[in-house]
Amino acid sequence: MESDFSWLLWGLPIAFVLGWLASRLDMRQLRIHNRQAQAPKAYFRGLNFLLNEQQDQAIDAFIEAVRNDPDTSELHFALGNLFRRRGEYDRAVRVHEHLLARADLSTADRQRAQHGLALDFLKAGLLDRAEDALRKLEGSPYEGQARLARLAIYERSREWPQAAQVAEMLERSGEANFSVRQAHYRCEQAREAFSQGDLDGALTLLQDTVRDIPQAPRARILLGQLLLTRQQAPQCLQVLRPLFEQADPTAPLAAATLAKAAQACGQEALARQLLQDFYDRQASLDVLEALVSLGGPGAAETRQPFLQHLQKHASLLAASRWLAAAPAQEAVPPAVQKALDSAARPLARYRCAACGFEAKEHFWHCPGCQAWDSYPPRRVEEL
Ligand SMILES: [Zn+2]
Repeated sequence: MESDFSWLLWGLPIAFVLGWLASRLDMRQLRIHNRQAQAPKAYFRGLNFLLNEQQDQAIDAFIEAVRNDPDTSELHFALGNLFRRRGEYDRAVRVHEHLLARADLSTADRQRAQHGLALDFLKAGLLDRAEDALRKLEGSPYEGQARLARLAIYERSREWPQAAQVAEMLERSGEANFSVRQAHYRCEQAREAFSQGDLDGALTLLQDTVRDIPQAPRARILLGQLLLTRQQAPQCLQVLRPLFEQADPTAPLAAATLAKAAQACGQEALARQLLQDFYDRQASLDVLEALVSLGGPGAAETRQPFLQHLQKHASLLAASRWLAAAPAQEAVPPAVQKALDSAARPLARYRCAACGFEAKEHFWHCPGCQAWDSYPPRRVEEL
């Protein structure tokens, strides 16, 4: 009897433990089964909400679906992209932030979600947050795209030193040659320095740029203008001269400055030669006007070059300039001149080759489409 009693004492706890273990196993199986069953149910609920245009509830249902089944992050990515494309940026951000908050996401999916989040902020115009999200993509497969996007942000917000830094990183990684762009950033900084009255700072920046990036004509043209403002006409002539000697396509933009500098230091003959040589290669209206402004040795009529231009090119601008420069006895009635000038005005504009934006002045950075060097240095009539 004693032995039977001791079997009970040992057997009962063992049976209890075995039973408890069995029930735990059952519960785990049941939970896994339930999760698998809940996931499709949540999708269908989400889909139903989506079809009924109840998008908030749809997102909640999809989030629940992903929580129940961690392998369904693809659904979230699709949803995030969908919302971004629809312009519903707060919802896209919510989806991507939820993905990023998950501890079980793979590195590749985390980077993809981070990229999605950066695009959401970019599209929403939240540039500070976009910049922050893009920085986090350094070292990821999205690094190149993220740097280009950051470059666009810095250009838009006119943060030139930061833009120069990112352009350098892009150039080092072999993305493209950014040297001309770097020259533009320095020119923009020089323009800002000039507008703040820091003429010496602007001068140093432009001189350094001409020395370091000689193939970028903008710095040379701006330096010429600045030197003329500072009454340094001979230096201005020296700086602008190579543009004409090398027949740089942007030389017409410097023609008026060259003529003024030549007049200021008595070098009209040199300037006339430079302008005439260029004009013989390319019949530019700006170069023609600069030539006319210089006059000519013994020229009977200062407006004669316009007439010569007209014999080869049917130009309303040249015709209107020729009439406007007529001596008093040959002057056309003011109403006729006014009508001609107003007809010729649109032809004197510059036009962006990328987006067609027209402006009275030449832009190196299109205010319409943000493209660099997209304005040909010629008037609309010459295009
Ligand atoms: Zn444009």
